[in-house]
Amino acid sequence: MIDLTITEALQKLKSGEISAVELTRAYLDRIEKYGKELNCYITVTPERAMADAAASDARYAAGTALPLDGIPIGMKDLFATRGIRTTAASRMLENFVPEYESTVSQKFIDAGTVLLGKTNLDEFAMGTFSKTSYFGAPVNPWQMEKRLTAGGSSGGATSAIASGLAIGGTGTDTGGSIRFPSAITGLVGMKPTYGLCSRWGCVAFASSLDTPGPIARTVDDAALLLSAMAGHDPKDSTSSDKGFNATVPLSPILGDGKTLRVGIIKEFAAVEVSADMKRLFNARIEDLKSIGAEIVEVSIPNILDALAAYYIIAPAEASSNLARYDGMKYGLRIEGEDLIDTYKKTRAAGFGEEVQRRMIVGTAVLSSESYEVYFMQAARVRRMIADSFNKAFEQCDLILCPSGAGTAMPLDSDLTPLEYYALDLFTVAMNLAGIPACSVPCGLAENGLPLGMQVVGKRFDDLKVLQLAKHIEQFAGIDNRPTKVMGK
Ligand code: GLN
Repeated sequence: MIDLTITEALQKLKSGEISAVELTRAYLDRIEKYGKELNCYITVTPERAMADAAASDARYAAGTALPLDGIPIGMKDLFATRGIRTTAASRMLENFVPEYESTVSQKFIDAGTVLLGKTNLDEFAMGTFSKTSYFGAPVNPWQMEKRLTAGGSSGGATSAIASGLAIGGTGTDTGGSIRFPSAITGLVGMKPTYGLCSRWGCVAFASSLDTPGPIARTVDDAALLLSAMAGHDPKDSTSSDKGFNATVPLSPILGDGKTLRVGIIKEFAAVEVSADMKRLFNARIEDLKSIGAEIVEVSIPNILDALAAYYIIAPAEASSNLARYDGMKYGLRIEGEDLIDTYKKTRAAGFGEEVQRRMIVGTAVLSSESYEVYFMQAARVRRMIADSFNKAFEQCDLILCPSGAGTAMPLDSDLTPLEYYALDLFTVAMNLAGIPACSVPCGLAENGLPLGMQVVGKRFDDLKVLQLAKHIEQFAGIDNRPTKVMGK
């Protein structure tokens, strides 16, 4: 049962071949077996899951089933869930139990899904290997004996979904946190257009970049999850009213004489990637050509400056967003001698090293001496990148690029902060521009590990992005069934 996709599971639930309770039981059993080893959940919610599943079965019996009724998912532990601990993988929120439900998790409740638990992540979503989590890093189920990273920051979600500890789930992507982990675990991860999914009730990292999105094993599944989680929300002033509603299977955007102009970013050609990545990326381009894609070279002149701009803007916003954790209203509080001392002790003990680094950088670039030279300059680069993408989309319909340079690295890789930051090279520009980008498996490397490539689109071309991703998925044809990935 664990190998079913969401699309397949829904069919079986509808026909009565399986029940939501059975399906949920299967996932909970597997979490019981492998959850500790993979460390992909911070909190498992078995009672809630069984109650959700029973309610789903009742709706199926009554003929009132909801769009995703009975589908067991994991929710990144950045989305506030009423009555269920929401930690952001930080000691600061270790015991925080929200009294409200985030819009995205509420939409999943409204769609009938079953909540298995809250998935692990980098602390406050700051990181690339999920190693900054206060609860320790999740493990990649591929070649598990090697203890590879499942990526970050949504690494708990990718670890869980790739191993069959959830059928699908949510992530958030501020600079690549859905796409990078999905790429190295053989999954489909979609960063939708900024504003398509509400940020309300999602612990804030960098508000102008934070983008909730789905992670799943197939493109169709990702489209189903995105349909559930997107939609206008009056509680988020940046929320769009465009909405997203896909019917699956998604219809082909190529083949049968259809053509499409597909752009390749010139500046990325100078970036070093593994031989496997190069080979698979080119192979998929040849495949797309064979069904009618016309390849054009496009230029995003400042794209290699995106990293520098991101690592100024994101920490700046984070330093402001995280100022609220001061031990006064909620979260950790460590009593000091006076007010200032309480702030200091609470924040020193509550935040991990990487989060502190970001707040120091963020505060520095916003200081009066640095604001003009760093923050404003980064804001200008951001504007230029967004404009260049708009221009590029006059020459092409969609753009392709790698999701990362290579396959999953060992969790104990000893990288400097700057080396971690550099891993985001292929992903941050899309956040700066607010445009949709989906990472889809493009094949297996020689070492047997999965690689991903991105399909990037104009604002609100999310459906087209997924449609092209589906062609790539079909050509790549990797087997990401959890029992195959885990060998059990
Ligand atoms: N790796 C990036 C960072 O550390 C992206 C994180 C994210 O998208 N949440 O900021």
